[in-house]
Amino acid sequence: MASIFTMIVEGKIPSYKIAEDDNYYAFLDINPLAKGHTLVIPKKEVDYIFDLDDETYLGLGAFAKKVAVAIKKAIPCQRVGVAVLGMEVPHTHIHLVPLQSENDLNFKNKKLNLSQEEFTTIASQISAAL
Ligand code: 5GP
Repeated sequence: MASIFTMIVEGKIPSYKIAEDDNYYAFLDINPLAKGHTLVIPKKEVDYIFDLDDETYLGLGAFAKKVAVAIKKAIPCQRVGVAVLGMEVPHTHIHLVPLQSENDLNFKNKKLNLSQEEFTTIASQISAAL
């Protein structure tokens, strides 16, 4: 069965899309640690990031970098933090989280409860900064 992120890529489940190309897709995390918390995935469905072939792995990093630069322009933050966990969804994804302090990248923090309007606005602000 396709992963939930494959269903997002295929448009079967909605997402707040930031960017897409032939091989990669970026969208807002639905339970964000901070405004602008974004997930970047390869369209190729591989559970564990270090099982990706080199080309896909390196392309994912380059795509994530473009998105991170746009997040930094669009969202007030000191820098954009990067994390890879994959404890919940078995489809490789990089978390990009706008940081004001080290503690903002603690996944035990309470998640933000944003409205659809807020998600839509944040996604369009980041997309416009690409
Ligand atoms: P991880 O696998 O890295 O431990 O966590 C998976 C992440 O994916 C979580 O931060 C969670 O909020 C996010 N997530 C899970 N399901 C969905 C979904 O359907 N849509 C979006 N946008 N994010 C999701």
